[in-house]
Amino acid sequence: MKPTTIAFLGLGNMGGPMAGNLVRSGYAVTGFDPSDEARAAASEAGIRIASAAEAATQAEVVVTMLPSGSHLLAALTDMLPALRSGTLLIDCSTIDVDSARAAHALAGERGHLSLDAPVSGGVGGARAATLTFMAGGSQEALDRGRSVLEAMGRRIVHCGGAGAGQAAKICNNMLLGISMIGVAEAFVLAEGLGLSHQALFDVASTSSGQCWSLTAYCPVPGPVPTSPANDGYKPGFAAALMLKDLRLAAEAATATGSRTPLGAAAAELYAAFVAAGEGGTDFSGIVRHLRDDGSAG
Ligand code: NAD
Repeated sequence: MKPTTIAFLGLGNMGGPMAGNLVRSGYAVTGFDPSDEARAAASEAGIRIASAAEAATQAEVVVTMLPSGSHLLAALTDMLPALRSGTLLIDCSTIDVDSARAAHALAGERGHLSLDAPVSGGVGGARAATLTFMAGGSQEALDRGRSVLEAMGRRIVHCGGAGAGQAAKICNNMLLGISMIGVAEAFVLAEGLGLSHQALFDVASTSSGQCWSLTAYCPVPGPVPTSPANDGYKPGFAAALMLKDLRLAAEAATATGSRTPLGAAAAELYAAFVAAGEGGTDFSGIVRHLRDDGSAG
């Protein structure tokens, strides 16, 4: 049975369209965001706007889509006293694993079920309700939240207990950052050797160098017509967000004593790219940073 009332906190680029999809699926959604622009867009999509406290008081399920772990913990601390008993809390933000576990603990202390459920699929997936959710938490919490997640996405992977969704997200995105740099470096080297982009693509895409960064999201224009390289490196997935995820991975590596030298190198390269004013560029644009002349071709 569908919960009747959902509170949605964080109606930005991702949260706005996700909340809109919940409305389209028949949920009554009350939302809050401190940004006037986000509230106005959400209101047009059928989301009732209220204060965070008011939205929380009425909710059976609370979904959060916020910038960071500190935003989540602050919002939870404010909201928890207002929640009815047995509310399900679903955090879809990408945050550090420790904050995600702290959020589960806060919820659990008051008898609420909770999930960390970060997403992949970007703004396009949020709009089209085709996101993948990486869920961490109990089976009971996932069973209760499944229909809500299904209204916003296509695939749900139960990764384990508290924080496991965030762990999967940052491991995956560290791998993605590293693989994108690897593919970009291969194209830069090919350019130096006078090998065409298409020739390298034709060989590597069917050989042992094959990976998603090459075959679905090729960082040079031409071989994969739908990749952002063919559209001026418009995101897609912005370099600033990739840097955020690589930093979360680096923090987690330090906290757990895991050796991730390539993850650290990827974070450094993306930090330099973002510092050069490219934070809003698609992350595949790192190929420009790797070329001496900085050209986009
Ligand atoms: P965004 O900045 O567009 O949206 C975040 C929203 O949270 C903002 O509108 C902000 O005003 C609001 N906010 C801040 N504090 C709040 C509070 N206390 N209560 C309610 N709202 C509050 O960011 P986004 O692109 O929507 O990303 C949201 C999360 O999703 C981030 O954690 C990001 O890393 C993750 N993510 C983003 C993408 C993407 O492609 N944009 C993809 C996957 C995951």
